[in-house]
Amino acid sequence: MFDYHVHSTFSVDCNVPMRESCEAAIAAGVTEIAFTDHVEHQPTDEGFGYYRIDDYFAGIEEMRDRFRGQLTVLAGAEVDYHTDTREGVGAWIAANGGRYDFIIGSVHYGENARIIFQEYFDGRTLDDVVLPYLDEIEGAVRSGWFDTIGHLDIPKRYLPLARREYDPGRYRERLHELFKLFVSQSISFEINTSGLRQTPKASMPGPAIVRWYRDAGGTLITTGTDSHAARTVGAGLTTTLDMLSLAGIDAVGSFRGRERRQVPIAGLRAAATVS
Ligand SMILES: [Zn+2]
Ligand SMILES: [Zn+2]
Repeated sequence: MFDYHVHSTFSVDCNVPMRESCEAAIAAGVTEIAFTDHVEHQPTDEGFGYYRIDDYFAGIEEMRDRFRGQLTVLAGAEVDYHTDTREGVGAWIAANGGRYDFIIGSVHYGENARIIFQEYFDGRTLDDVVLPYLDEIEGAVRSGWFDTIGHLDIPKRYLPLARREYDPGRYRERLHELFKLFVSQSISFEINTSGLRQTPKASMPGPAIVRWYRDAGGTLITTGTDSHAARTVGAGLTTTLDMLSLAGIDAVGSFRGRERRQVPIAGLRAAATVS
């Protein structure tokens, strides 16, 4: 199984050394791990300027040596995308994108450099949050800079308790349009399993949205736990593979040097049963 969304000490919000997550990955039956630390361009973000790329790559090399033959360790990044920071993101990708195996584009910010957390919903309708968010996703997809899009429906995670009226069906047409763009750009989105262990108790996105993507002709998916703790590395991946199969997706993406290879889910499930 592939865990393509794991944070380490190179992210401001994580203090788990790569080595601990690699050990946890092996114990959990993960065969490929991508360390996708935050690359931040919003000047107000606490992680702005935190990422040290050369130290990061030294860490990756050390893990490759240490776990050779047991675990494939990939160089990844979770790059925050927003129209406001587009120029900086583009420059960063142009300078560094070629060094990585795999790059996630994620949208974490709404208007006025405000992160899409619970407080962001104050005084805003659901449409006020979700529609501009999906426009940002569209910008990320159109940029051609990313291999996959992170936690596609993250607004649902941060909905205040009093506002649980979120229904993805409301955005189905917009999503359909977007998914046709995903398909023409050959970009995937990830199934982020962190939603299974915390609010909203469902993967991001969940099965309905995956089905709509499939209906739009989509077949490209990546899987990741968004782990900020070693114990969650690999968590929910088996459930996710089952969910994908039911939604008509029969392979998940594996990456080397930004090149995608589609690996059949049936083979991954069989290997997971044996180990
Ligand atoms: Zn994220
Ligand atoms: Zn993340």
